[in-house]
Amino acid sequence: MRIARYSHDGEVAFGIVEGDELAELAGHPFGPVSFTGVRHRVDAVRLLAPVLPSKVVAVGRNYAEHASEMGGEVPAEPLIFLKPSTAVTGPGDVIAYPSSSSRVDYEGELAVVIGRLCRDVPESKALETVLGYTCANDVTARDQQKSDGQWSRAKGYDSFCPLGPWIETDLDVSDLRLTTSVNGAVRQDGRTAQIVHKVPALIAYVTACMTLLPGDVILTGTPAGVGPVEVGDEVVVEIEAIGRLANRVVPRG
Ligand code: MG
Repeated sequence: MRIARYSHDGEVAFGIVEGDELAELAGHPFGPVSFTGVRHRVDAVRLLAPVLPSKVVAVGRNYAEHASEMGGEVPAEPLIFLKPSTAVTGPGDVIAYPSSSSRVDYEGELAVVIGRLCRDVPESKALETVLGYTCANDVTARDQQKSDGQWSRAKGYDSFCPLGPWIETDLDVSDLRLTTSVNGAVRQDGRTAQIVHKVPALIAYVTACMTLLPGDVILTGTPAGVGPVEVGDEVVVEIEAIGRLANRVVPRG
């Protein structure tokens, strides 16, 4: 099942994607769903970030080749950090390049969308808390990540967390192709099989610290090939069996 969030005629709703149509949901997709009977063509709505998380928990250096290109190794335990909810933006929205940075990078990532309130979840039950998966771009002001000594500002600018285009449920994410392209040129081409700390281990690790709420998102790390974007670029993160997340870079105004 593909769950989208969209706006149409000024109204925001969730819907299930069925081919080139959307079946509108009554309320939200967390728990049993019911339909209003309203249908739209997908190309007649504006797709939004598929969830509004209370928090985005991201994982650094979780692919060995990426850890190596950053001059390190994958840590023995997941290295987690937070991106603010206000960084989230949707498919087709812009990434706003701040004038305070001169090096902004894309990081294509598999995003886990949590389906219910949970804490202290054992690995063996972790997948029961997952609603589904979507594409993410963990946009990073690389210069500030280095100069600040911690990552809140570098990872936290408005629009630095594109999510979408929708949530794919009932998906085995153990080996999916993940690519990131800039203006059509492939820059990252990895597979989720290369993830070191796997999704169940990440959920167990994160929930041993903080309660996760329905709609919260875990970013699982980026494969090798990170690099800069410039104003005017179009960045596309694409994950096999999920979809395509495209965003254009504009100056922050
Ligand atoms: Mg990242």
